[in-house]
Amino acid sequence: MLAQLALVKPLEKRWPGEKVFLDTEYGANPEKAQFMQNFAAIAKRFGIDPPDVIIVKPDVDKSEKPKPQKPDASIGWAVIDGKFHDIVFVSKNIKNGLNDKELLAVVAHEMGHVVQVNATRHNPHLSGKTVESDADKSALSCPEVDPTAFKSMLVTIEQLIDEVAKKHPLLYGDFTGSMAIIPASVQTKMAFGGNHPMTSTRIKLADEELQRRNANHDTVEAPQQAAPQVQSVTVQVVEKGDCRNLEESSL
Ligand SMILES: [Zn+2]
Repeated sequence: MLAQLALVKPLEKRWPGEKVFLDTEYGANPEKAQFMQNFAAIAKRFGIDPPDVIIVKPDVDKSEKPKPQKPDASIGWAVIDGKFHDIVFVSKNIKNGLNDKELLAVVAHEMGHVVQVNATRHNPHLSGKTVESDADKSALSCPEVDPTAFKSMLVTIEQLIDEVAKKHPLLYGDFTGSMAIIPASVQTKMAFGGNHPMTSTRIKLADEELQRRNANHDTVEAPQQAAPQVQSVTVQVVEKGDCRNLEESSL
């Protein structure tokens, strides 16, 4: 299903471009069944409903040429009949640049943020020194998330951001405001950093989890039960119009 969501302004600014639900792409593909099962298992582990994962294609210019896109992921939510529906946004370049295990690591990190915003009753200004490292810890606590894939995900995303920053330095103007004097590689660190710990610190965390699993001889058990159907309730409601309650948290 293709969805052109009518997002509220801040979300539309951050996530312009055509949106596609991951479950419509992956859920229909038997080869992606393991991914969907792991995704549902992580949500269950976190005590949340599986969020709607939306892949956002780059926005296009007047001649339909794709504009440069920041490799990015964040969460949002819509209030529908008084119930929160969580959404994970992932840029198309991240989705295309990662394998399924790495994509699962990204989505698990974002689901870690979903747990955090649930705990704050969906305060869109979730902040604090540890929100990012806590989201990493949540993701890595899931046996479905491979710490090695988590590490390669970090490295690949940093490369993707660096490529885009070098090609389109102005894209990161909102981070620094003075592109001319700051090299792309430094901007990349700032853009990628945000509140995230340094990549080396995040890799260390994944290494610690790897060591812990090896010491415990943990093996990843595939979930036995069939994955519950991930619902696309958000798009149905949003497409019909009222999305004033759609909010995001930049995480
Ligand atoms: Zn985050």
